[in-house]
Amino acid sequence: MYCMNRALNFNAGPAALPAEVLIEAQKHLLNFNGTGMSVMELSHRSKPYEEVHDGAISKLRTLMNIPDDYEVLFLQGGASTQFSMVPMNLLKEGQTASYILSGAWSEKALKEAKKVGQTSILASSKESNYNSIPEFTLSDLSSDTAYLHITSNNTIFGTQWQSFPDSPVPLIGDMSSDILSKPIQVDQFGLIYAGAQKNLGPSGVTVVIIKKSLLERSTDALPTMLNYKTYADNNSLYNTPPTIAIYLLKLVLDWVENQGGVTAIEKINDQKAKLLYDAIDESEGFYNGHATLNSRSKMNVTFTLQSEEATKVFLQQAKEEGFVGLNGHRSVGGCRASIYNAVPLENVEKLAEFMKKFSQK
Ligand SMILES: *Cc1c(COP(=O)(O)O)cnc(C)c1O
Repeated sequence: MYCMNRALNFNAGPAALPAEVLIEAQKHLLNFNGTGMSVMELSHRSKPYEEVHDGAISKLRTLMNIPDDYEVLFLQGGASTQFSMVPMNLLKEGQTASYILSGAWSEKALKEAKKVGQTSILASSKESNYNSIPEFTLSDLSSDTAYLHITSNNTIFGTQWQSFPDSPVPLIGDMSSDILSKPIQVDQFGLIYAGAQKNLGPSGVTVVIIKKSLLERSTDALPTMLNYKTYADNNSLYNTPPTIAIYLLKLVLDWVENQGGVTAIEKINDQKAKLLYDAIDESEGFYNGHATLNSRSKMNVTFTLQSEEATKVFLQQAKEEGFVGLNGHRSVGGCRASIYNAVPLENVEKLAEFMKKFSQK
């Protein structure tokens, strides 16, 4: 019904939002909760906004089962700003920050950490063009390790960590592209960060979940806006937050709750991913998955066809059928279907069907 004119959106990010969320936002656009204003026009110090803000934090706490000794912070600057903030706040002189490289985003995170202090690479799968999550040995971490940084889902290459290590040092997770896609154990991490625009909402807000004890590492010498303590001490209201983005994030969290929470979402995500991987595996080599079987991502399905020519025809016909966002990232080539939480199962069914038909032609 209301999805009639909605695109079959497989964009990598910003990505599809639930139609229900957009309709709800539209309904209240001119008059939010009787204020006679949109959320965008409210003071960020007002009661109605406070309810949105605190509601988003507490809902995320509930959905992700975040323990009390963690803070939930809302920042700006995207996940990319966290590449700098993490080492600025958590890496002390005389310590080393350790990185596991599983794709382009982890490389970028490492690049920023190098500007701040000493770094090391615990493992990397660069040599195989990041087609898997690399093997590593935690006992290889030196005793001066400040933290271990991982990227839980590699948006560009289509690989995903299937479980997380019990790290002896604080584990830092860039979860931008798979946060809230399945239940995780937050207490395995010292800090989790995610730009909202893949699984949580629109761009403009970045979520940071940090263990309170780690805040002691942030010194007052840091620029105020780049210090996690500023956000923790002021409920992320030291300055004007991206109010509309936080409002939409809150609506997405309500939607996840209505779906039955993260466990229910995971089941649907499993079905969605299986549809596409089955289409790849049953095509007898017509489609080739980029990721190795045990590292396959349930959020970004990457695959190539036998030739660039075939890929071009595939993408062209897909476009004519109304599919959007299937071009692979230039570093992998081929195709990528991003199937985040908000991508409806029926859209993925349509894509799997199209892939089958195309390969049979
Ligand atoms: C998209 C993405 C980023 C970059 O996020 P921005 O909010 O654009 O800075 C970082 N890491 C991962 C894993 C991503 O998918």
